[in-house]
Amino acid sequence: MPELPEVETVRRGLVDTIVGRRIDGVAVTGMRTVRRTSAEAVYDGLMGTTPVAVRRRGKYLTVELDSGYHVMIHLRMSGQLLWVPADADEPVHTHVAVTFGGKPARRLLFVDPRTFGEVVVYDPADVAAEIPELHRLGVDPIADVFDRPVLAAILRHRSRRMKPLLLDQHLIAGIGNIYADEILHRAGVHPEAISSRLSPSSVTRLHEAIGTILATAVEHRGSTLADARYVDLFGAPGAYRERHRVYGRAGERCLTCGRGVIRRLTETGRATAYCPVCQRRPFKPQRSRAARVESREPTPPPTRGA
Ligand SMILES: [Zn+2]
Repeated sequence: MPELPEVETVRRGLVDTIVGRRIDGVAVTGMRTVRRTSAEAVYDGLMGTTPVAVRRRGKYLTVELDSGYHVMIHLRMSGQLLWVPADADEPVHTHVAVTFGGKPARRLLFVDPRTFGEVVVYDPADVAAEIPELHRLGVDPIADVFDRPVLAAILRHRSRRMKPLLLDQHLIAGIGNIYADEILHRAGVHPEAISSRLSPSSVTRLHEAIGTILATAVEHRGSTLADARYVDLFGAPGAYRERHRVYGRAGERCLTCGRGVIRRLTETGRATAYCPVCQRRPFKPQRSRAARVESREPTPPPTRGA
């Protein structure tokens, strides 16, 4: 699924292409893509308008129109936005096609084989009712103020394992499975470490890692995996995948320490890759019941003259 760096790459492409160009044509053919409203609502909301700004919060793109309405686009698992010549053939699984005026005219296609993605035209005053999950998103580490105290407050007030905490879009928006693993590895934090128990130096390292990993991934235009599902607006893959240090590298020797072998954890529901040397467990494993019972037995008195 595209995460913050991939969606940010698409956003920057949209700023360079659609802003200031009038929408002259709209074709909605995929009903699941517009399931939250209707084909008519998307058609009526877009036709004749001109995008004036493109923003991103977490994995959500929002396009502001000169009509005052906004468009929310979420790519979910397999969605792509492609900027193509007006006469280009549509790829299969094209669900929304928007024609922009200008010379030459171009089209923006929303292509989505698995159809989890969405396009919604909405009144920003009603966002809480129309797109509640967008309204409730947590802090965006690139678009918002995200200094160390902001992160420390998120961690301190919760006793949660770090991997699921980083994936919780209501706390920090935009991080998914790839970047959560890369961030925890760079910070040297075990994916099962408990957020409220992180040391101040771990919080500092984690804050640095979130900023550095996400900024570097944006610089390299995101990660295109073997399935090639993510491409930018012009159909080009991102180059960050070859810089992954743990994601997709289970069984390989760690590139950072040269000693650990990357392991996979699946108990949190999502596969997690980490290096047992760089990311030591910050807590002792629970002792077994037998071990606890044994330790309660009275210690024999010291033998005299031993
Ligand atoms: Zn390592």
